[in-house]
Amino acid sequence: MLRIYPEMEFSAKCPKDGAALNIKNVVIPGMRCLANVSCPTCANNYYIDLPVGQGLWSPIVLNQATAEICDPLAMTWFSRPLQAGFTHRVTSEIVPIVHKFFDAERIVIVNCLDFLYGHALLKLLNVQRHLKNSPHLGCCVLVPTQLVHLVPDGVAEIWEFPIAIKEGWKWYVSLEGWIDKQLIQRQECFLSPAYSHPSNQDYDLHYFVRNLPDIGDRVQTKQPIILFSYREERLWGRNLAAQQRNIQKLYHQLSLLFPDMVFVLVGFGNKNRISQTKAEIVDLRADKFDLERDRLWMAYMSAADCVIGVHGSNMLLPSGLAKSTVELVPRSRIANTVQDFLFSHNKTDLRDALLFYRLLYGNESLSSIQPLEVTNMVESVLLYSPINSNWFKVDNSQTALSSLHFAYQKFLEQKAKTSLQLSSSQALLKQKIKQTIKIITTAK
Ligand SMILES: [Zn+2]
Repeated sequence: MLRIYPEMEFSAKCPKDGAALNIKNVVIPGMRCLANVSCPTCANNYYIDLPVGQGLWSPIVLNQATAEICDPLAMTWFSRPLQAGFTHRVTSEIVPIVHKFFDAERIVIVNCLDFLYGHALLKLLNVQRHLKNSPHLGCCVLVPTQLVHLVPDGVAEIWEFPIAIKEGWKWYVSLEGWIDKQLIQRQECFLSPAYSHPSNQDYDLHYFVRNLPDIGDRVQTKQPIILFSYREERLWGRNLAAQQRNIQKLYHQLSLLFPDMVFVLVGFGNKNRISQTKAEIVDLRADKFDLERDRLWMAYMSAADCVIGVHGSNMLLPSGLAKSTVELVPRSRIANTVQDFLFSHNKTDLRDALLFYRLLYGNESLSSIQPLEVTNMVESVLLYSPINSNWFKVDNSQTALSSLHFAYQKFLEQKAKTSLQLSSSQALLKQKIKQTIKIITTAK
């Protein structure tokens, strides 16, 4: 944690001449947590990223007079928004809505603002660490409206900033002033490092995802629950039409393997029409964010046996909540592999990560990944991974052996269902052939 009030515990050097900078005050105008500094040698004034989130790795320095950027690691996705935000500051009055739970003279601020949903969520997961390790500090969480319902119990205050997540990169002059007022009212203030990729040993999603609707009645007799995390900007295929064909085929093939499955669609957009021809489809897609719909999505994610999606299609929560994940990764995203996964708190055996999180690497449009490959991977994850996972643990777990027998029994039942389904569809085929022959013979 970084102390920011009454004094700031921070030091940095001038990018121009290396002189130790004079630290004036903290500035939080949005997603950035900045130090307002000046150089005693060259007299330049700068804003510099404090060690928070991406700023831990690649802090950017911005010259206040020229808006010139110093970005030695060339992280343009991180430096450009700072420059653009600074040069086009938002002057309309937008300030947080405060949800206060208790008074705190000494606080830690967790700034979860960002212009990407996943980044904001990952920052939010840091809250649990502060609640556990710093119970003497009141935790104040600065979040966009869309994430308020995920802030865990136990925080002192939620500072709900009423903007769309994608607007999170902007520089809000009114927020800057509002934060200053918050600081001077307190005895002592710290800033959370808001690590970009906290470990699953430091968060448990159940603290964040709660108050979900009960879907027990809707899925009671259905097995497995397979969820597709749908997006229209991260396509599986060259275009929307190709994605529709891929999802439809995938659904069809999974239906043959798992006749009692529920195929759930969650995510934004409704342009692809997926027709229910066999197993049940639950289509929960929406055009825009809605709190109750979000809770329903999370209820299905939590119940899902497997979630399928394209890298970048909001896979964090589905992967963290579902029992297993199959992700399609375009070529250009290979370097970002695993960044969009969350892991459940109880996943501690390395082998489980490989068994329950599977990646299929494709070309840039993912047109090289056929639905059958995805079907085969899902089948492997659903039928074989639970068996292997328990079999691997027989040496150090009392219950693994009975769980192994249970998993194997489920496997046999599923295989029996699939073969019944195949034999009945074959019988249907035979009947159709007979009818066709009869029609042809009669015509003659
Ligand atoms: Zn200087």
